[in-house]
Amino acid sequence: MINYDHVMVRFGELGTKGKNKKDFIRLLGQNIRRRLKEYPDLVVEVRYDHIYVKLNGHEAKEVIEMLQDVSGIQTLSLVYRCEKDIDVIIKSTLELISHQEGHTFKVKSKRSDKSFPLTSDEIVRKVAPAILKTDKYKVDIHNPDILASIEIRDEGAYIFTESFPGAGGYPLGVAGKGMLMLSGGIDSPVAAYLMMKRGVKIECIHFASPPYTNEGVIYKLEDILTKLNVYQPRIRLHIVPFTKLQEAIYDHVPESYCITIMRRMMYRLATKLAYNRNCPVIANGESIGQVASQTLQSMKVINEVTDLPVIRPLATMDKIDIIKIAKKIDTFDISIRPFEDCCTIFTPKRPKTMPHLDSVEEFEKTFDYEALIKEAIENIEVRYFGEE
Ligand code: ATP
Ligand code: MG
Repeated sequence: MINYDHVMVRFGELGTKGKNKKDFIRLLGQNIRRRLKEYPDLVVEVRYDHIYVKLNGHEAKEVIEMLQDVSGIQTLSLVYRCEKDIDVIIKSTLELISHQEGHTFKVKSKRSDKSFPLTSDEIVRKVAPAILKTDKYKVDIHNPDILASIEIRDEGAYIFTESFPGAGGYPLGVAGKGMLMLSGGIDSPVAAYLMMKRGVKIECIHFASPPYTNEGVIYKLEDILTKLNVYQPRIRLHIVPFTKLQEAIYDHVPESYCITIMRRMMYRLATKLAYNRNCPVIANGESIGQVASQTLQSMKVINEVTDLPVIRPLATMDKIDIIKIAKKIDTFDISIRPFEDCCTIFTPKRPKTMPHLDSVEEFEKTFDYEALIKEAIENIEVRYFGEE
């Protein structure tokens, strides 16, 4: 009995020309191998316009699901590879569709190997009558139960009846590296995932304020980062001691301005670290209007302190859609564990939604935050999650 023996991986053409295309495919092949590395029996074959995963008897569903985690893949098909011989193709197609539910069918064909003697049309006109002859199926070209596709390529003929969506986006690493601000909340892990999906590798920065925040927050981050390792196998986390800065802010700044200034300090630290670590951008989980510090006016006043682009993948998303992604990547249950983060503890009763830059700058002159920033950067603790 024959059965599907490979998964065919297709990537979008978008942005994949010339040297870019080469990098794209090389990285995608690498990322696929990493995702499947627990299973040495699976063989990844990288070709010019497709990647194939040879199943060697492995359960297909599990492999498809793992591949759906890998960004840069448009669609996936479960395929059977056979000899480029029309009789073998016909026989194989008949056997493959006999395992399939349904009574109506359509045959589609594509010939990339132009040395194959039959055109796409001719292939269809040979295969379809053979299926009809079994008396089990009728043709339905508009809405068939079974769509049998046949592709003739250099290395063989492929037959498939089922395709699955991939994650889309770009292969991790193709777009460089960014510094992501990671709290223990719902939003920032989703922002991390969306950056990775777009091809950006991330390093994470976390501002910790012990004893106001306890080790519980760090355990949350560990669990979140372990989940994110599915998409990026190794992640560097920088834990910045933020307590002294935060105390200085609350000693010197009127309560309603504390959040704005605290976030400016976070941005200053993230920017310094991003430069140190060769990251040309910062990213975070801000979403327009979600809280006082995320009004457009607040964003402007906070953004003033950095000269790096700040990418906010969630900027225009509704919370309900953010939560959907958080559930999909399995970070939601971790994020909602009740641990204080440094923002919830210091949350003022009436934070400014329309902070004024002049006032902010006046308040910041009342204490030597530069020294505290320098000290915080010098005392960063680094941890790694996952393996290369
Ligand atoms: P989240 O759910 O990600 O915590 P949030 O809705 O609670 O976000 P804020 O607390 O205003 O919103 O934070 C906005 C963004 O700032 C976060 O998504 C995160 O990227 C960053 N951020 C907030 N607190 C910290 C922290 N302690 N360490 C690192 N980044 C932080
Ligand atoms: Mg938060």
